[in-house]
Amino acid sequence: MEAALLSPEGEIHPLFFHVCPRCARAVPSSTNEQHCINDGTALLKCCPVCQTRITNPYGKFCAGCGLEFATFVDTSS
Ligand SMILES: [Zn+2]
Ligand SMILES: [Zn+2]
Repeated sequence: MEAALLSPEGEIHPLFFHVCPRCARAVPSSTNEQHCINDGTALLKCCPVCQTRITNPYGKFCAGCGLEFATFVDTSS
């Protein structure tokens, strides 16, 4: 029995997340949610500074430039 557990390319389909900067809630980008269902804050689709996509739903900081997402909460209220 020859089960190919890993493809020779080792390529993993990338999964991105949209993150709420206010409550740090993350949803898979495939859901196409535009705003957080907890607080209505616009979700970040990528880092506002360096455009790095968000690949970890638990991340609070950009993996590319170290930006803290919480600093991008829209406080125009
Ligand atoms: Zn939220
Ligand atoms: Zn960044």
